[in-house]
Amino acid sequence: MDIITDVLIVGTGVAGLYSALNLNKDLNITMISKGKIDECNTALAQGGISVARGYDDIKLFVEDTLKAGKHKNNTESVKILAKESIENVNKLCELGVDFERNQEGLVFTREGAHSINRIVYYKDITGKRVEEVLLNNVKLQNNINIYENFELIDMLKIGNKCIGGVCTKDNEIVNIYAKVTILATGGIGGIFKNSTNQRLITGDGISIALRNDIKVKNLNYIQFHPTAFFTENSNCRKFLISESVRGEGGKLINNKGERFVDELLPRDVVTKYICEEKIKTNCKHVYLDVSSMSKDFLTKRFPNIYKECLKNGIDISKDPIPVSPAQHYFMGGIDVDLYGQTSMDNLYAFGEVSCTGVHGENRLASNSLLEGLVFSQRGSQKINNEIKNKKIEVAKKFNYNLDNYKDSNKKILIDTISRLRGDIKNELVTC
Ligand SMILES: Cc1cc2nc3c(=O)[nH]c(=O)nc-3n(C[C@H](O)[C@H](O)[C@H](O)COP(=O)(O)OP(=O)(O)OC[C@H]3O[C@@H](n4cnc5c(N)ncnc54)[C@H](O)[C@@H]3O)c2cc1C
Repeated sequence: MDIITDVLIVGTGVAGLYSALNLNKDLNITMISKGKIDECNTALAQGGISVARGYDDIKLFVEDTLKAGKHKNNTESVKILAKESIENVNKLCELGVDFERNQEGLVFTREGAHSINRIVYYKDITGKRVEEVLLNNVKLQNNINIYENFELIDMLKIGNKCIGGVCTKDNEIVNIYAKVTILATGGIGGIFKNSTNQRLITGDGISIALRNDIKVKNLNYIQFHPTAFFTENSNCRKFLISESVRGEGGKLINNKGERFVDELLPRDVVTKYICEEKIKTNCKHVYLDVSSMSKDFLTKRFPNIYKECLKNGIDISKDPIPVSPAQHYFMGGIDVDLYGQTSMDNLYAFGEVSCTGVHGENRLASNSLLEGLVFSQRGSQKINNEIKNKKIEVAKKFNYNLDNYKDSNKKILIDTISRLRGDIKNELVTC
């Protein structure tokens, strides 16, 4: 079976869905997701989305992002992110995302390394709400078809021109031919033993880029979140205790009940202090204490975190939460320009799989969903303007030995990351 379409979008998280909504409605769009449609990191996002508090805040927002990223960011991308945050968050509201509001309008919370409160949120399940609303809007458009459990394993190309993707469905090969292909395949958490990410998000877009000599960048920039719920089991996804819990006053303490770090420092710094404290105290975790907040506040502000911890025997209104760092986010990725264009013709990359350079060496909290929105919107506009000059091309069929092909994709990435980051080699899964 082959599929022919104007635009192929690989991934149904924020970057894929928002891109689909920003493409012209007269284009035939095919979207695929590796697992179920909402089995993605977007649906797990808790804290919220950063947005400039008005045009006067753009400069400070840029400065905060550069400082957190250790000035390794692409300043041009950061300025675009901050400037275009307002229109894109407004558009999300128009699409139906009902962020927390009071009489004065949107309510803004704070997270580590932001100088002011500038994060919009929906309870502690912002990503789930964003995913639902975007998906509902996409389903209303009859020019978009979505296929679940459909896995991209390679690019279809002629020379350096992408002409679609090679996929598998129920262990059969399906070639999808497209004028333009968009990779929105997310991060790499699934190749780590301890990660807050969905297990099926294994950096496939990056492996496929490496396999096809598509330019990649900063593959050594990997973020560990300081506060994942500690469990001994290393095969399950680690439940995140959002940074906004510290933003609202949660304190990090060691097993003697002593504070050892300013909780609102950038993520990499807090992670480093926690790792040192674990060694000093000979304990596998530290604690996050929120018992100064009332149960009423906690159940309203963090209902999901409250429930999830309770399931694991921790009543957060009384007991400190055992936490330890876990892989969380990938700042590197497929090298793209300010419109998500990759080094391969007709191939774009949006969201966590891409490297716009916006995060530098360390992502500022809540800038990821925003990056997915801003750059997929810009890229989609560019595709709208250029697609009329493109045509479908069909290449010869390829023979794939499916038994070892998927694992070999994963292995390419694991080998690359081990080589670049010997210090975290033991954190990677083996395949
Ligand atoms: C627990 C958690 C909390 C977070 N909280 C926040 C937050 O509060 N604010 C914030 O800004 N960011 C947050 N992040 C980060 C943010 O959620 C992600 O960076 C962002 O959602 C990535 O969006 P995406 O569209 O690029 O990828 P994803 O949402 O991960 O979607 C990837 C898609 O690609 C598909 N896919 C992957 N490989 C293939 C393949 N081979 N074939 C076909 N399909 C494929 C998947 O099926 C999926 O549909 C959080 C992340 C986690 C894990």
